[in-house]
Amino acid sequence: MKDEVLILGGGVAGCAVAISLARKGRSVTLIEREPTPRHKVCGEFLSGEALEDLDLLGINVADLGAAPIHCVRLAAARRAAEAPLPFPAASLTRKTLDAALIARAVDAGVCIEQGRSVQSLRRQGDTWLATLDDGETREAPAVFLATGKHDVRGHARPKDPERWIAFKTYFRLAPDQAAELANASELMLYPGGYGGLQPVQGGIANLCCVVQQRFLAKAGFRWENFLAKMQHDCPHLAMRLAEAEELLCKPVAVTHIPYGFMRSVTEEGLYCIGDQAAVIPSFTGDGISIALHTARCAATAYLAGEPAQLFQAKLRSALLNQMLLARIAADGLNNSFARAVLPFCLRVWPGVMRVTAALTRISQPAAVTSHAIAR
Ligand SMILES: Cc1cc2nc3c(=O)[nH]c(=O)nc-3n(C[C@H](O)[C@H](O)[C@H](O)COP(=O)(O)OP(=O)(O)OC[C@H]3O[C@@H](n4cnc5c(N)ncnc54)[C@H](O)[C@@H]3O)c2cc1C
Repeated sequence: MKDEVLILGGGVAGCAVAISLARKGRSVTLIEREPTPRHKVCGEFLSGEALEDLDLLGINVADLGAAPIHCVRLAAARRAAEAPLPFPAASLTRKTLDAALIARAVDAGVCIEQGRSVQSLRRQGDTWLATLDDGETREAPAVFLATGKHDVRGHARPKDPERWIAFKTYFRLAPDQAAELANASELMLYPGGYGGLQPVQGGIANLCCVVQQRFLAKAGFRWENFLAKMQHDCPHLAMRLAEAEELLCKPVAVTHIPYGFMRSVTEEGLYCIGDQAAVIPSFTGDGISIALHTARCAATAYLAGEPAQLFQAKLRSALLNQMLLARIAADGLNNSFARAVLPFCLRVWPGVMRVTAALTRISQPAAVTSHAIAR
């Protein structure tokens, strides 16, 4: 069967580009592996840019019950520094967000095939051939690769040398801790990685954390040991999780995340977007906004007849500075010396948060405060 446009992956980037193209009258087919939206590993923070792009797609996250986020807090050992966000931000579960995006795509006229997985993608003449898990082949002259963290055979991204592993779960916090966390996104540092805690809709909190494989090995590759170790190394997290109820029977997890990856080349008719275009370190909370941005740019390029190779090269140049700065900040967070001195920095130099925020595009907070976590 031949399609005009084929979109592989129905997450943030795939749905966004599908909606934009269908609204312009293009005949679009989207293939999504999962039969229905499910929990994904994600901190679920939506930056100001992401909210603007979602609004353009007809999604108002407040209507979906998103929790507003007004400030960021950085916690290391027993100290934390806090900075207000200079833009409106929110958090919303990916299950809710992805379901809303799929619904908007259906409304726009996109033909969605859920529960079908793309096994490989290859070019034959001027046509792309996508082979699905049941052996069926779909053809189109233009393909948007939006499979996120998962690679399609023939288009794999480089391996992740640090072997990152990420987890997400939900907690119902004790009332006093839920009140302290309200409207804040907290970033916590520990050896081998970092974690984020923030309220999402329905009075629950998202804990999303990343760790290098060799550090997880020290916890015997067991979630409960790793959770205990994070709390031991970051008492702020232990305080937040005291008497909390873990809501998923086990966390969702993903391995081998190629942080810092940027796709520089592609082939005719193949537009790579979202995590297939660039993977920014998770602590920035910018992955979703980048996915939406790359989808918007790709739709514009395709509609203007811009070749995919030119689109991909321009996208890379546009994202380069943000990616480099995020990488430098991530190296700082992962550096054991930086982690050791950070508690003192937070006490004597609260402006450290201003620098971290600027590096991660949470730019120029109006005021910064620092306080010790009393335990
Ligand atoms: C630990 C962690 C925390 C993060 N926290 C945040 C955060 O707080 N805020 C933020 O903005 N970003 C965050 N991100 C990044 C964000 O999750 C991603 O950048 C974003 O989801 C990328 O969107 P996407 O559309 O490329 O991929 P996705 O949204 O993951 O969508 C990809 C889709 O493709 C489908 N798919 C995969 N393989 C196939 C296949 N073979 N065939 C068909 N379909 C397929 C999947 O089922 C999925 O629905 C985080 C990432 C990590 C790892």
